[in-house]
Amino acid sequence: MQQRHASAQFGRFRRRRTGWLAPLALAAITLWQASIAAAHAADCPRATALGTGRVLGVNVAATPRVGLKSFPQTLPLEDHEVVLTFDDGPWPRTTRRVLAALAQECVRATFFLIGRSASEYPELARRIAAEGHTIGHHTWAHRSLMRIKAQDAREEIDRGISAVEMALHGAATTVPTTPFFRFPGFESTPATLDLLQSRGIVVFGADLWASDWNRMTPKQELKLITDRLNAAGKGIILFHDTKAQTAAMLPAFLRYLRDNGYRVVHLIPAERASVSPD
Ligand SMILES: [Zn+2]
Repeated sequence: MQQRHASAQFGRFRRRRTGWLAPLALAAITLWQASIAAAHAADCPRATALGTGRVLGVNVAATPRVGLKSFPQTLPLEDHEVVLTFDDGPWPRTTRRVLAALAQECVRATFFLIGRSASEYPELARRIAAEGHTIGHHTWAHRSLMRIKAQDAREEIDRGISAVEMALHGAATTVPTTPFFRFPGFESTPATLDLLQSRGIVVFGADLWASDWNRMTPKQELKLITDRLNAAGKGIILFHDTKAQTAAMLPAFLRYLRDNGYRVVHLIPAERASVSPD
């Protein structure tokens, strides 16, 4: 389309016989336009896709804990801005379908991975990252950190981070590349919250739940989450990429966002703001 338009312009230009420099300049512009079009096409092959609205850097200094379901604070989202988050993967049967739906609409999400699953399916963990999504942490084996000893909770967190880092980067470190964490079942304790904050890790709750741990049809889930979103107007949405009903519902949900003026915000880790001691 872009190229056809440009060559039509070029034809008109030549007919006006305005000298040889102008057509050369126009040819250069045509090439430049074509290269921009190619770059856009590489980002998103469909012009009518939802697309990612903006990128938001998040760090522990500004927002150590976010998500109104668990905390008094959340991310600074504008009206009609949503953040898509997916928990409990990677899970081959359903995560691939979720990735396909996100790619179809050119939107980027945040996946909170379970360490044990990442070590079982490292290629899928790497694929999530390679497709431009952000990867946070969700413990080693999804135990409730509220119901185990503090030392065991610390081990669940560290082992999970380490397994995801190993899958993604081949290094078993407990310092996460992306310092984002979500508690299984949102079951935090004051001690683990303090621990994560002291290590510069942002704790994510959610503003809206799809409640996809309950069995329902994709159509029911779509109605539930769009009703909740319309009531709230914006927010961090929690899904599970391990759920077939969510994978099945997602294409329709993303089209709904596009058709109703919602914009997807992609989260990335921001540099820690330098905090002066006082
Ligand atoms: Zn979970």
